[in-house]
Amino acid sequence: MSLSAYISHPGFRLHEMGAGHPECPARLDAIHDRLLAMGLLDLLQPHEAPAATDEQLLRVHTAHHLATIKAAAPTAGHCRIDPDTSMNAHTLLAARHAAGAAVLATDLVMAGTVQSAFCAVRPPGHHATRDAAMGFCIFNNIAVGIRHAQRVHGLERIALIDFDVHHGNGSEDIFAGDPEVLMCSTFQQGLYPFQGEEPLGPNMCNRPLPAYSRGEAMRTAVTDYWLPALEKFRPQMVFISAGFDAHREDDLANLGWTEADYAWVTARIVEVAARHANGRIVSTLEGGYALDALGRSVAAHIAVLLGARDA
Ligand SMILES: [Zn+2]
Repeated sequence: MSLSAYISHPGFRLHEMGAGHPECPARLDAIHDRLLAMGLLDLLQPHEAPAATDEQLLRVHTAHHLATIKAAAPTAGHCRIDPDTSMNAHTLLAARHAAGAAVLATDLVMAGTVQSAFCAVRPPGHHATRDAAMGFCIFNNIAVGIRHAQRVHGLERIALIDFDVHHGNGSEDIFAGDPEVLMCSTFQQGLYPFQGEEPLGPNMCNRPLPAYSRGEAMRTAVTDYWLPALEKFRPQMVFISAGFDAHREDDLANLGWTEADYAWVTARIVEVAARHANGRIVSTLEGGYALDALGRSVAAHIAVLLGARDA
């Protein structure tokens, strides 16, 4: 067993984008309840996410983006940012805490306080580009954590693994061409945000997966493409954009993964981190909208991070 942190914040439940929106506060309740029921919560070190500072956000985002989000933040009601994304009175602070979770996770893991950290955050982050919020995302949480690891902790080789069913176009926009970051991504072909099939830089290992290809296609892509690239790169730390919307119960996509697939890919990441990165892993919640499947999938992911389960 290894020690893992569980980083969240009560403010994440106050951000909501209107009745019926899939990216809803109940997602975090589903995760929390499942971890509690399985006895996993007792094994995790709880932390409250701090708010990311402007300085931390500006390592990733343009001053224009930060100013736009601050100006858009409503005091009541909803302010629409894109067709799928809106802000309420609590969104700006929640978004700051979501990015701050990745910063705290990085500090805890680098200090050796914990081996790994899971950030149970909303809003998610991997679609947020340098200059824009989109696709339910306001700030790119994981990118803020990675820049913190580079600038404050001096790391020179960081792996970003993104297994959300949607391509992390925002993360690719931020890190394409950065030789200190290797991004490995799988996503469903032809799905929002309709990017990723043509990588934007040599440090991008993007593997589009056909609809209905199930977990086997992901396992083959990871074995044939991600793992050789990661072995060559020898990351000093591994960040995971952990989206669980490729699950077969999730209506937003059609890859047909199961909890066993999430456990399997997590185990491969743990092996890479153990070989090259002193086991250092920061995982941040992205998508996952079928509430029960989300809870089960996060539990499977965390059980492997903790070493409580092999896969
Ligand atoms: Zn997604």
